[in-house]
Parts: sequence; C-alpha cells; structure tokens
Amino acid sequence: MKVLVTGGAGYIGSVTAERLLAAGDQVTVLDDLSQGHRAAVPAGADFVQGDAGDRPLVERALRERGIEAVMHFASFSLVGESMQRPFKYLRGNTATGLSLLEAMAECGVRRFILSSTANLFDKPGRIPVAETEPVVPGSPYGESKHALERALKWLERINGLRYAALRYFNAAGATAERGEDHHPETHLIPLVLKTAMGKQEKVVIYGDDYPTRDGTCVRDYIHVSDLARAHILALRALDRGSLVYNLGNGRGFTVSEVVETAREVTGREIRTEVGSRRPGDPAELVASSERIRKELGWEPEHADLKSIISSAWEWHSSHPDGYID
Ligand code: UDP
Repeated sequence: MKVLVTGGAGYIGSVTAERLLAAGDQVTVLDDLSQGHRAAVPAGADFVQGDAGDRPLVERALRERGIEAVMHFASFSLVGESMQRPFKYLRGNTATGLSLLEAMAECGVRRFILSSTANLFDKPGRIPVAETEPVVPGSPYGESKHALERALKWLERINGLRYAALRYFNAAGATAERGEDHHPETHLIPLVLKTAMGKQEKVVIYGDDYPTRDGTCVRDYIHVSDLARAHILALRALDRGSLVYNLGNGRGFTVSEVVETAREVTGREIRTEVGSRRPGDPAELVASSERIRKELGWEPEHADLKSIISSAWEWHSSHPDGYID
C-alpha cells in the first residue's frame, strides 16, 4: 500500500516506516524536522519536508503519490509541557490533525491511523486499562488526542473514513538503527541511560509519594517495534472496520524499578534524587491489550523490561550523540 507517514522522522514514526518498507509497502515520510531527524528516515522512503497541517502541501503529496493510507505520528507529545503550554497542544495538535483529515477527505483518502495515548485515562477505575474505560484526559495533551478521536467517529459516520486509534502506553526500546533522541529529552528511559553514560549527573524521580508499591509512578513500557507491528496489523484490518486499541505489555513497572533494571543492564552507577511530582502524571497506567490480541492476533515480541532497556542501551551506546543530522 502507498502510505504517508507524518512524523516519520521521529521515534515511533521512523521505526514504523522501517517496518512498512520491510513489509513491502511504499512509504512517503512527511516531517517538518522540528523534532524529528532526517537521518532517522529510512533510505527506502520518499521524504517531504513540511508541516502535516499545511493543506496545499499535504494535498499535493496525497494526489501526486496516490496515497492510500495515512499514519499520523506528527504531534507535540509531552504531558508535562502541555500543562505549561496548553494552547500549543489544544490548538496545535488538534488543528494539525483536522487539517490533515480535511486534506484526506478532499483527496478521497479513507484510511487513517492515529497515534493516541494512555493519557486519555487520568484516574482509571480499573487497571489494566481496557478500551471500555471512560475517557478522562489527564492533560491538554490527552485532551488534544481525545478531540481527534471524537472527530474520527464523525468522519467515519459522515465520510466513510476507516480509522484506527492506537493508544500507546510508554513507548521504549530501539531497533539496531533507530532509537529515541528528543531535544530536550524528557522521557525516563533515555534520561536514565544518559545518566549511565555519564552525560548527566543524576535522574530526578518525579515524586515518591504515589499510592504504588514503592511510591513512584507505575508505567507500562512497550517496545517500539511491537508498536510498529501493531500499526501494520491495524492498517491491514481497516477494510473490516474502524479500530480502537490500548497498546501495552499489560505489566507495570515503577520508576525505581526502571532505574534498577537499567543498573543491571548497563552495569553502571545511576544516581537518583527524589523531586516533586510532575503535574499531569497519573499514579499508575497499565494497558489491557486483550482486544488487539484477540482481534488482530498481536503479541508483544519484547515484553520483558530488561530486553526493552537492553535494546535502548545498545542504541544509545552506538549513537552516543544521538542522530547526526
Ligand atoms: N519520570 C521521572 N523522571 C524523569 C522523567 C520521567 O521520574 O526525569 C517519570 C514520570 O513521572 C513518569 C515516568 O517516569 O511517571 C515515565 O515518564 P515519561 O516522561 O518517560 O513518559 P510519560 O509517562 O509521561 O508518557
């Protein structure tokens, strides 16, 4: 299939582009490189530099390349930042997504996959969190994804759009060639590994007074390759109808457990210091991925935290300065 991957120079987008190419699909990456890296775009993909919210540019790309499906990764994606800069998320993510969907409607492209988020579930009543859990966004970031999910329902009904909304829990790990390289880095595992490499002095743990087994937040870390595979399975299944899935391993680890596992994997000292809570962080987020397992036969291949952190460590060790653009 001919697939447009917005944000395909970013972490999850580039790994998905790599997997799509390996599966024989034709890939066009659209990325403005504001957060992504040109070097992360796989060699076999066409590359268009630009904004996913640029209607004329997107329509041209859709028409000229005969695009049949869009995977939309391009997004602001930091819970903490969204609590400080709500409009960047409430307007930015929503406006870009809607503009892209409008361009698709104009060009008759009817398959869409949205990167959605576990931040739709601020204080879930039940852990692991299933798709039946009521949506209560935890931040303007989560709210922006919820707005797009709701728009998709209308577009399905009115325009016959087929979509998949994939709610990622915590993407982590790396492939041999592609890993996590954000500027500034705010995610736990890369920060822990940078500390192990001596690139920063310590990891600040955002709160140890949560109602969890050791007081630090529990998250469900899912390998980026497993996420990429879920996108491809969802793409192939869209002709049967729209899909909404929570995606995780179904097992949660505390921040302290992540640090401890990273100490084991790296054999290095990793200093920590307890700081205050980060606004917008729920205490515990673990996914139930029963629905995608049952309906699409998806299974995580790298479910174990140690192997997830090992793959990230290999990438960081072989790319000590991240991507060289
Ligand atoms: N975290 C932390 N220190 C850091 C970065 C993250 O304690 O320097 C915690 C954060 O509060 C959350 C977990 O690690 O509970 C995962 O955070 P991350 O930013 O990686 O992903 P998120 O859960 O926000 O998607």
